[in-house]
Amino acid sequence: MDMTRWIDTGMDAPDGHAWRRPAPDDCPDCDCCTAALCEGGRKSVFGCAFLLSQADKADKAIWDRVSKCPCSSAEKSGTMAHALAEHRAEQEKV
Ligand SMILES: [Zn+2]
Ligand SMILES: [Zn+2]
Repeated sequence: MDMTRWIDTGMDAPDGHAWRRPAPDDCPDCDCCTAALCEGGRKSVFGCAFLLSQADKADKAIWDRVSKCPCSSAEKSGTMAHALAEHRAEQEKV
């Protein structure tokens, strides 16, 4: 079993190789988060990006990527963001 998997963070180092970081527990539904991050992201109205570590939040490439995570978006049913969007739509109908 391969214990050391790495994901491409989308950043390129000056010498041409891409920075990578360990992905010990990838989410099966997206390519930006770990499963644990998405699990938390679904329960948060702010989504996955809000739950990143300070270091990752400070990294714009990571922030941009994770803030677009489909797993915690308002379009995905079962997420807190989705429940909130539905609630708002419901109120607008009345
Ligand atoms: Zn995910
Ligand atoms: Zn995510």
